[in-house]
Amino acid sequence: MTSPVTVIGLGPMGATMARTFLANGHPTTVWNRTPSKAAPLVEQGATLAPTMADALAASELVVISQTDYQAMYDSIGDADVKGRALVNLSSGSPGELRRAGDWARENGADLLTGGVMVPPPGIGRPGSYVFYSGLEAVLDRHRGTLAELGDTTFVGTDPGLSMLFYQSQLYLFWSTLTSYMHAAALLGTAGVSAQQFRPFASTTLEALTGDGPMGFLRILTEEIDGGTSPGGANSLRMQAVGADHVVEASHEAGIDTAGPRALRDLFWRAVDAGHGDGGLSSVIDVIRRPAR
Ligand code: NDP
Repeated sequence: MTSPVTVIGLGPMGATMARTFLANGHPTTVWNRTPSKAAPLVEQGATLAPTMADALAASELVVISQTDYQAMYDSIGDADVKGRALVNLSSGSPGELRRAGDWARENGADLLTGGVMVPPPGIGRPGSYVFYSGLEAVLDRHRGTLAELGDTTFVGTDPGLSMLFYQSQLYLFWSTLTSYMHAAALLGTAGVSAQQFRPFASTTLEALTGDGPMGFLRILTEEIDGGTSPGGANSLRMQAVGADHVVEASHEAGIDTAGPRALRDLFWRAVDAGHGDGGLSSVIDVIRRPAR
């Protein structure tokens, strides 16, 4: 007999999670602010809890997937969470997650926070993974069930860490793809299609993560953790001038310059801070110290 699970929140994510638990044979109880959204799940065998108290009483494991952390407080209200393992997979700021950890402890519940690294169709599929942080004992108790959603990657006992990892991944994802869009728009002004550019972009992206001379992810990692940033033949000053040229090229082409200007400004702030003869990794120094 598989263990019971309660799912709170039936947006695209929560509904897919509930379906996944049902498909794996768990007695699944669901609760949603708008109860009508539970109808398709009830048809598939889920139980719709009439009240939050019923939802919490049905299972020790309570998986929450809502727009934000405020929704959890709004939904639970003063219902008794004592003894429950709350696994909140909603987005929020790391500070909100830490406060939620305190709130859970004060109310006798265990909180595990999580950031899901796939969209709804990816839940439970190969390649799906979730960053978890907070009370590892919850993960140890329910790893088998939670692994049905995706690989369980525990990143630390600080409840805010799961979101820091999640948001760091999102930032990397969005900024890389937005840079690609900028490059495609810039080339597009000269009649070059994205398809023509794509092989070159692929070569760069693959090389960045490789072990060759362009393996900058490895090189930067060593320099960031080692606190060094040798400029050599590629000084940051030279690269800042190059970044100026990307801004000018974008301006001349009549496209938006916000992305390149942000990059150029960071580079020059690092040069002004004394890193002109250093390497690219010295830019982290100004990222760590926000502009006044
Ligand atoms: P939404 O972010 O739109 O969440 C919808 C759910 O939140 C619904 O169940 C909704 O209830 C509920 N909700 C919102 N506000 C409240 C409130 N004040 N009180 C009670 N319930 C509330 O949809 P998703 O399912 O897509 O996302 C869920 C979480 O997963 C989000 O935090 C999102 O950032 C995260 N996420 C989403 C991904 C995606 O691709 N969709 C990928 C990775 C993470 P109701 O139905 O009544 O409106």
